[in-house]
Amino acid sequence: MFKALLINKTDDAGYHCALTELDEAQWPVTGDVTVQVAWSTLNYKDGLAITGQSPVVRSFPMVPGIDFAGTVTASSHPRWTVGDEVLLNGFGVGENHWGGLAQMARVKGDWLVALPAGLSARDAMAVGTAGYTAMLCVMALQRHWTDNGMAPGSGEVLVTGANGGVGSVAIALLAGLGHTVVASTGRPQEADYLKSLGATEVIDRANLSAPGKPLQKERWIGVVDSVGSHTLANACATTRYAGAVAACGLAQGMDLPASVAPFILRGVTLYGIDSVMAPMAKREAAWAALANTLDRQQLASITREIGLADAVAAGADILAGKVRGRLVVNVNA
Ligand code: NDP
Repeated sequence: MFKALLINKTDDAGYHCALTELDEAQWPVTGDVTVQVAWSTLNYKDGLAITGQSPVVRSFPMVPGIDFAGTVTASSHPRWTVGDEVLLNGFGVGENHWGGLAQMARVKGDWLVALPAGLSARDAMAVGTAGYTAMLCVMALQRHWTDNGMAPGSGEVLVTGANGGVGSVAIALLAGLGHTVVASTGRPQEADYLKSLGATEVIDRANLSAPGKPLQKERWIGVVDSVGSHTLANACATTRYAGAVAACGLAQGMDLPASVAPFILRGVTLYGIDSVMAPMAKREAAWAALANTLDRQQLASITREIGLADAVAAGADILAGKVRGRLVVNVNA
């Protein structure tokens, strides 16, 4: 038996997520590797799954948790043997396949990444899918800047949703690479926190979140946007000639009320960033870069630890924008 969060949807009780005990015999058939989960995390998508606010879970019952880190305890997959330390992000885990907010998981070996050298399982989940996505965004921008001869320090980089998981890690990564980072937030009271991560300036997200003109004063050589909607449209409209925007989120909305003007008149590039189905080589490169570059003290400063049962209430908090940085979940607490 092992502890897990379990989501159920019934006519009587409606949509419901609670801590429960499961038997390995209840596992759905998918999977050729069993992992004893040590740490999981809470991401925005986990909040959607736990609360049912958006239909990310499509089959029931479902164990939520789009990521986890732990140790292989059984495997018929050629790449993994008992004792291997692994992590997983996405691939529909916690949405279509039982996920990481549990003490045990049974998944496909093809989805697993070896825990990178120098990164503990706890730190890997402090980074989590949010931080790994931030790294995918930063990698896309770095490639773009290299191709276009834009060096670190040659202009400001905007990070929206700054206090969130993606935003916090993106600020730390970009500042660590020598970029001048401007943080956009609806929580100006957290300015000291954002500056401690490396932001040089903190702006009110209201500057970006309302409808704006198709082209505005050029400012950013790059943008990491986890917010979408008018914020993303305004970010594109204020990006400098030949700059780039990496779009990964929809905290404000899924719409994109923009014009083509920044793309056809300023040569701005909009990169779409997906972490869920990203190819393995890209995942491994992102995790290796995270292990090598992310300041562990900064990571500790953005991370709060909670227990498995706490994750139910925290799911609502993250959707309400009440969570700062990252939540790491100790599945054994
Ligand atoms: P968080 O909830 O941790 O952060 C989101 C942040 O967005 C909040 O902290 C807040 O920052 C800001 N925000 C919230 N509501 C609004 C609003 N109405 N208008 C403007 N800003 C708002 O989530 P994550 O960082 O984990 O994820 C961020 C987004 O990225 C989500 O939409 C998530 O689904 C997406 N995502 C996508 C992935 C992919 O593969 N493409 C992978 C991971 C995440 P502040 O208080 O500073 O304003």
